[in-house]
Amino acid sequence: MFELPKLNYALNALEPHISEKTMSFHYGKHHATYIKNANTLVTGTAFEKKSLEEIVAGTREDAAQVALFNNAAQCVNHSFFWDSLTPNKREIPKALLDKITADFGSLDAFKEQFVKQATGIFGSGWCWLVVENGKLKIVSTSNAQTPIVSGTQTPLLCVDVWEHAYYLDYQNARAGFIQAVVDNLWNWEFAAQNMTRGK
Ligand code: MN
Repeated sequence: MFELPKLNYALNALEPHISEKTMSFHYGKHHATYIKNANTLVTGTAFEKKSLEEIVAGTREDAAQVALFNNAAQCVNHSFFWDSLTPNKREIPKALLDKITADFGSLDAFKEQFVKQATGIFGSGWCWLVVENGKLKIVSTSNAQTPIVSGTQTPLLCVDVWEHAYYLDYQNARAGFIQAVVDNLWNWEFAAQNMTRGK
């Protein structure tokens, strides 16, 4: 049975950028429900003993397994999102900062492009910083779609742009939420570790 993974920080640790109330719903209700649904949907299928990542990879092209894919992918995406955040803001590791500067022109240019692209996603989805063929890219995905099992893109960081991620704190102001995450909460050390695994 899949279990809700433990967070590396307290529910109120991301305040004032993400409130404890948002975390209690987003992690404690939304993410928990994806876990519960994945457990229910996987029962009796060929994926019963597989990991969430294996389920996502194995169901993504299968129209008959859309519900299982959606719930398993949301489990994987949310785990990655929580790991993308930290209350302990630190300097960006030099190798990553150099790469961002090389591929986007500057850190500010990257942030501006990321906020613009993530804000512009129509409806629910995710925005990702990935490395693909040695180059950093900003990638948008709809609903539960994910680059995590793409085989070609290695995600470094992400932001959840579903309304449940920000509505209690920012109402309709999605850009304000994304800007706050990018400026204050991203875990650049997690990103740098992911970059060393990237292709
Ligand atoms: Mn979410």
